[in-house]
Amino acid sequence: MNRVGIGYDVHRLVEGRKLILGGVEIPHHLGLDGHSDADVLIHAIADALLGAIGSSDIGHHFPNSDPKWKNVSSLVFLHEIRVMLQKKGAMINNIDATLIAEAPKIVPHIPAMKKALAEALIVTMDRIGIKATTNETMGFVGRKEGISAFAVASVELP
Ligand code: MG
Repeated sequence: MNRVGIGYDVHRLVEGRKLILGGVEIPHHLGLDGHSDADVLIHAIADALLGAIGSSDIGHHFPNSDPKWKNVSSLVFLHEIRVMLQKKGAMINNIDATLIAEAPKIVPHIPAMKKALAEALIVTMDRIGIKATTNETMGFVGRKEGISAFAVASVELP
């Protein structure tokens, strides 16, 4: 049975934090603020995968009130979710995601992100789509106050 899930996330850009997107550190003078590494792309993908298997969201599984997840790499969340999928016998058909950021340029980093995500989920890179766009200078993303991400996942359940 094919199932799909959707995910969305947003984090604020601040000084004094590393910018981690799709498990990759990207050189930038600002980083995303959050309890974990605030990897907005992975958080959107995580919610899409959890939604596809009818599970509760990322905040339920990895609450920001739990010191265990403080500054943790969000790749750890993906690893945990992969185990949840495996327990249900679920196979990932594909994931598609869009990052919305005014700066920095995302496109040069997409191959490295796909590789990191594919390794964490143990799927081939061709099952992961990542696209990037700007918000045409409009709204909070356009003012470079934050970065947002959307993701969908298609999963085959037995
Ligand atoms: Mg988040």
